[in-house]
Amino acid sequence: MSPTLMAVHHDSQAHLAAWLLAVYVIYLQMQVVARVRAADRDAALVWGTVGALAAGTGIWAVSLLGLLAARLPIEVGYVPVLVLVSWLPAVTVSALTITLYARRMPRPWMRPLGGLLVAVGLTAVAATAVESRLMEPQLIWSPALVGLSVALTLFTGALVAPRLRGRLARLPDRLADIAVAAVLGTAFRGGQALMVAAAGVPVDARCTSVGQLSGDTMLWLLPAVVSVLSVLVHLAASLDARAQRQREALHRDLAHTSAALDQAMQRDAITGLYNRQAFERRLQATLDDAALVTDRPAVLRVGLDGFRALVERYGDAFGDALLRQVGRRLQGLVREGDVLARSDADEFLLLCRGWHDEVQLTQMALRLVDALRAPCQVEGETVHVSASLGVARHPDGATVTQLMTQALDAMRTVRRAGGNAYCLYRHGMDREGGDQVALQRDLRHAIARGQLALVFQPKLRADTGALAGVEALLRWRHPERGDVSPAVFIPVAERFGLIGELGLWVLDEACRQVRLWHEAGADVPVAVNLSAHQLRQHDLEACVREALRRHRVPARMLILEITESVAMDDVDASIRVFDMLDDIGVQLSIDDFGTGYSSLSYLRRLPARQLKVDRSFVRDLACSPDAQAIVGAVVRLAHALGMTVVAEGVETEPQAAILRELACDELQGFLFARPMSGAALLTWMGPPPARTATLRPEQGDNSQDDPPSAWSSLERVG
Ligand code: C2E
Ligand code: MG
Ligand code: MG
Repeated sequence: MSPTLMAVHHDSQAHLAAWLLAVYVIYLQMQVVARVRAADRDAALVWGTVGALAAGTGIWAVSLLGLLAARLPIEVGYVPVLVLVSWLPAVTVSALTITLYARRMPRPWMRPLGGLLVAVGLTAVAATAVESRLMEPQLIWSPALVGLSVALTLFTGALVAPRLRGRLARLPDRLADIAVAAVLGTAFRGGQALMVAAAGVPVDARCTSVGQLSGDTMLWLLPAVVSVLSVLVHLAASLDARAQRQREALHRDLAHTSAALDQAMQRDAITGLYNRQAFERRLQATLDDAALVTDRPAVLRVGLDGFRALVERYGDAFGDALLRQVGRRLQGLVREGDVLARSDADEFLLLCRGWHDEVQLTQMALRLVDALRAPCQVEGETVHVSASLGVARHPDGATVTQLMTQALDAMRTVRRAGGNAYCLYRHGMDREGGDQVALQRDLRHAIARGQLALVFQPKLRADTGALAGVEALLRWRHPERGDVSPAVFIPVAERFGLIGELGLWVLDEACRQVRLWHEAGADVPVAVNLSAHQLRQHDLEACVREALRRHRVPARMLILEITESVAMDDVDASIRVFDMLDDIGVQLSIDDFGTGYSSLSYLRRLPARQLKVDRSFVRDLACSPDAQAIVGAVVRLAHALGMTVVAEGVETEPQAAILRELACDELQGFLFARPMSGAALLTWMGPPPARTATLRPEQGDNSQDDPPSAWSSLERVG
């Protein structure tokens, strides 16, 4: 210290008190900041104001206590007005700090600016406090120490304070707050002490304000003022915290209750499933979803057949129990993400997504119908219910109402037809519905009543005219309508879920016929048409094996025809099924080739042995060079892939001639033979010695014969 300055005596107790007070003031400010953050707008204003006043007074008191701790060897007094004036920057600094921290300093530039303002404010507090002792001659300020004080406060305010709390996040809240307060309080107190040290008092100075406010008065007055204020603040804070906790608990209760209420409003009281309103809201949300382009949702309406009669007989409680059981059964079948609801007394709703083709969807519908057909045990009674299921798949731009109505139309169609089935909605169903319903009702009994029959159309070798095999074609002899074309009733069977049973019958009947021919001395490979639905049937392979086994027919006597469009619809699935069937030894043929969309790379991956050129190309052959070019290209392509080519619908000799020229392998059509019964085919083939060889005796060819070993091993097994 320079000899021109008066020596200072430090009162360690007062220093300690000032330091403790500094730490406490920071702690108080942190509590106020927390309350301001938690409070709503008005309460935050009150808290901010009260907190700024209390903490500001604390800052002011720290500053004055620090001044009192550095005692001068002469008697001093303080000018009350200046003492009071130093309170103003203290409160301002406090208000500023609380505001900045309560808002979490939303902008990055706020930290340095806030730190600077706080540093300037605190320097002003200290400077005014020091100057409240009027000295003669005046104080000698040390710019270096003032700068140091400002730098310390700035560094702490801008860099340390905003990050410190986050660094201590692992400590318990209260402890972390105290630790932060200790660090910042020490820095704050240090800055103030540097300011007092910066104000050097000349050795010969005397205090001209002696007799005004004495240091002793200040020593008891300051802590008293601060204590009263802080007690008030803490009291208010703890009351407010309690009220806040109560408010939060109330909010939680309210949220909980409204969620429960919301749930209750969405749920059906009996089954606990969604109710109709909730279902429609979900359907709307699904329709609004942008992913709809690739993932078209389907609505299924499941009506319980005969439910009302059961309720009339056994009562409402029984009906409720039954509904719960049905609800559980359905729940067990739907996939995650599907929405299941109960809509009316005897109706359930299902919203499914992710079915990429209609076949999968119909399989799902069939599973539901099957599951509901199983008997229910309710209150000790065994009852049988079945379901009428209407399915509507989302066409582009359909609304909730349209989808719901379409599914309802489809469901009503099933109901009118006697229930226990599903039906897919088709455009114009309301008009054609009646006829379709009648047709499917009759078709349901057609197998049992022996109205179905297979006819067989020969396929001949193009070069020799020998019989290469036959195609089995389904016929329905309807008692009133006469012969109904498969082109009419196969789609009906698919829509109403009858195709599975029908397909099985055809497979079995075709194998039975092959066996009969074999026993009559003719070995004729038979081609059976498979529908899209059958191709996706998970037990197709088992059904084929079973039909072959039952009639002891070698697998290579069976060819399965799948239309090109069905095979290419889901190529990967087709490849799996084709591979499986190929493994058994069954041959595969792609039917109606040229009508669908085929990718050559896919065609290569399918283990098909045969390709059937569609009738439309054959019809145009004689008059259209284009058709000739196409058929020629198809033949070359098929041969390159190791397939044989069959031309279907050959009606004229010129067509046959062109096809032979184009190296087509087999020909099928009215020119050679119309489809005929199994017995008629035997007659058509002629007497036994020639029949396995040729259509016409003069064109004999024995290569058609199957090696006897395959048959004989089957005979032995059988
Ligand atoms: P497809 O498999 O392409 O069968 C050939 C159709 O062409 C048969 O009609 C056959 O009678 C007819 N046809 C044959 N030669 C000629 C000809 O020279 N001129 C004309 N105009 N037509 C000829 P059909 O029996 O009415 O069968 C129509 C379609 O119904 C079949 O087309 C096949 O896709 C389907 N189908 C027939 N039976 C079954 C079956 O058992 N199961 C399945 N899933 N579908 C079948
Ligand atoms: Mg066919
Ligand atoms: Mg065909």
